[in-house]
Amino acid sequence: MSGEERGKRAARNEDLFRQVNERLHDLAVISGSSEPHGKFVCECEQTSCSLLVELSAGEYGAVRANDTRFLVFPEPWHTSPEVEAVVERHDRYWVVEKRGTAGAEAEDLAERGSNLL
Ligand SMILES: [Zn+2]
Repeated sequence: MSGEERGKRAARNEDLFRQVNERLHDLAVISGSSEPHGKFVCECEQTSCSLLVELSAGEYGAVRANDTRFLVFPEPWHTSPEVEAVVERHDRYWVVEKRGTAGAEAEDLAERGSNLL
């Protein structure tokens, strides 16, 4: 698989998790959850990963404000150095930013508002 294809595939996988997390975020808001942190799924490209990370609504919103940024579990295994860079390291989560083809694809998917669910 070429680097470009790999980047696109990773971006699509992560776009799907992003949509799952937006639903979780909406549900938490609607239900008026009093929990300080919401639970979100790790948005890394490992299809076998189903770890949860905890973010406040404000933290989640800050990551979502940028189409090329994704939240992942705070361990190197959940990042893909060839297509993304870790731009923020927190105790509960890390933020990665897509570069090159993967970043462009992530932005494209977010703009199109693709709805795979
Ligand atoms: Zn992960």
